[in-house]
Amino acid sequence: MLGVRFWVFGFGSWVLGVGYLVLGFGVGFGKKINEMKKILITGGAGFIGSHVVRLFVTKYRDYHIYNLDALTYAGNLENLTDIEAAPNYTFVKGDITDADFISELFEQHAFEGVIHLAAESHVDRSIEDPLAFVKTNVFGTVNLLNAAKKQWSNAFEGKRFYHISTDEVYGSLGVEGLFTETTAYDPNSPYSASKASSDHFVRAYGETYGLPYVLTNCSNNYGPNHFPEKLIPLFIHNIIANKPLPVYGDGNYTRDWLFVEDHARAIDLVFHQGAAQETYNIGGFNEWKNIDLVRLLCSIMDGKLGRRPGKSAELITYVKDRPGHDLRYAIDATKINQQLGWEPSVTFEQGLEITVNWYLSHPEWLDHVISGAYLNYYDLKGEK
Ligand code: NAD
Repeated sequence: MLGVRFWVFGFGSWVLGVGYLVLGFGVGFGKKINEMKKILITGGAGFIGSHVVRLFVTKYRDYHIYNLDALTYAGNLENLTDIEAAPNYTFVKGDITDADFISELFEQHAFEGVIHLAAESHVDRSIEDPLAFVKTNVFGTVNLLNAAKKQWSNAFEGKRFYHISTDEVYGSLGVEGLFTETTAYDPNSPYSASKASSDHFVRAYGETYGLPYVLTNCSNNYGPNHFPEKLIPLFIHNIIANKPLPVYGDGNYTRDWLFVEDHARAIDLVFHQGAAQETYNIGGFNEWKNIDLVRLLCSIMDGKLGRRPGKSAELITYVKDRPGHDLRYAIDATKINQQLGWEPSVTFEQGLEITVNWYLSHPEWLDHVISGAYLNYYDLKGEK
């Protein structure tokens, strides 16, 4: 059973891995897989997960990184073409909602750590189909917790289950205040309710069974490889294509934005240095009203595309509001800053510039996502 579904890019990776060694990229890869620390990263073909996988594969050459992803519409292996041949990387196509599969996978590989990002992540989709979010975000997380608990069978020394969550579990803020780690959960969308539920299960496994976990709640991410159903990449795409820029309501919704590579750096830090059974908020101290963000993006894009100033902003159109729309999210990231020394490495203007440059220099990535061609990448690898 597992053999059928456990299609890995292993063989191709080993062959191409020779190339890595020749190129010197592989210096430090001396160990066989069984001698390496095995880390399972779920959702590694998605937006944030792909940045985390890249960071771990390139930084920790004595780890073997298993990227488990179901390759839903949001999973894109074209995000990882630069590291797919690394000898310390294996892709596993599989679904976290399949309890037997997950259990077998843990039995087959003695994972020492789990970094869990796989999720249904789009609020609008959760309004259309809440049950899909319960299935993946709640049921899938509990499957992973069960498998880790069983595999580690109460010998928890050196083990770590890292659950990646969102600031949306805290609900909505008024015009003032910040979410801290002790803010009561008050989710408003089916997405945030499912993430809140999964967070509670992670804590419950920590309390009830002593499973060593860390949990982080992060604000909105942006950066390269972001699926263009989300605000920033959608608007970059629409500005290029001269299509309308649909802004919800009056545009006064406020979000705290963080560059995705800074989130990946924070995940690295918390995974290695965070205290067990602790929660950390991650955020950019970078609040923007949607309309101000869109105007900034339009002005950057005017410059990049050689358009007269103000041209792209003419594409802004106000559309009917999303039900249950939270007014404002803002994260207090003091704890991770003071206890682990983390802070964002780029300003929003710098991060947005990097992001826009990436989209403009990777038109094929965007084309493949828009056309759906990225969905064939796994099959085209020829290992199926
Ligand atoms: P994403 O939608 O880009 O990626 C999710 C990945 O999970 C995809 O590769 C998808 O194929 C995979 N996946 C979905 N269902 C699966 C299943 N049943 N089994 C295995 N894999 C499955 O999401 P993202 O934006 O990268 O978010 C990653 C995590 O970070 C999520 O847990 C999300 O809640 C959290 N988060 C996201 C943000 C943000 O701004 N994007 C902010 C804070 C926290």
